[in-house]
Amino acid sequence: MSSEATLTIALSKGRILKETLPLLEAAGIVPLDHPDKSRKLILRTNLPHVRLLAVRATDAPTYVNHGAADLGVAGKDVLMEADDDNLYELLDLKIAPCRLMVAGPADFQPGGHRLKVATKYVRSARAYFARKGEQVELIKLYGSMELAPLVGLSDVIVDLVDTGNTLKANGLVPMEHIADISSRLIANRHAYKMKFDLIQDLVQQMQEAINHD
Ligand code: AMP
Repeated sequence: MSSEATLTIALSKGRILKETLPLLEAAGIVPLDHPDKSRKLILRTNLPHVRLLAVRATDAPTYVNHGAADLGVAGKDVLMEADDDNLYELLDLKIAPCRLMVAGPADFQPGGHRLKVATKYVRSARAYFARKGEQVELIKLYGSMELAPLVGLSDVIVDLVDTGNTLKANGLVPMEHIADISSRLIANRHAYKMKFDLIQDLVQQMQEAINHD
């Protein structure tokens, strides 16, 4: 756990970092090095007590859950897959909005067999079909889910859909909406209690910047 007067924020490079920086700037936090150009993984900011950690998107909840970072930014899809009980979700940053959906071939007809679902989002998919009372066979993939129904690996997929162009290009259609997704500001529960004033100020200023967007 970082000390009481400091604040460590885990962010992934790329879109999340790019779109989070203006929100941090609204709260008076500016990195000293250009984050996308620097190879440093610990980025100092204009505020000596605030630092940023450059992490992989799916690792942000892990750093926060274990207290190596006080705060972090992670997609709701990542949070739904992570089994981290030490986290508070403080703010919807409205970054990278999209939907988690079931999709499949336009002519798909459910047969008598158990539905085969290919996905990177096994936990979310399992919970969704369990809520529907539907028993499915889940097949874990790490990318290019759209391929699975085309070659008979699965009947349908569960994936993030933004414009729908990727599905369309592969002859698939969106079928069922599971959840709305966007990036969230998360906090370690212990840090939230110990650094309440510091974190609340930051949350308030970021919230104002989001509202003005
Ligand atoms: P689209 O063709 O715009 O519907 O985008 C779909 C593809 O982009 C899929 O491969 C998704 O996994 C990925 N994708 C869409 N939105 C996001 C997002 N917000 N974060 C990460 N991946 C995304």
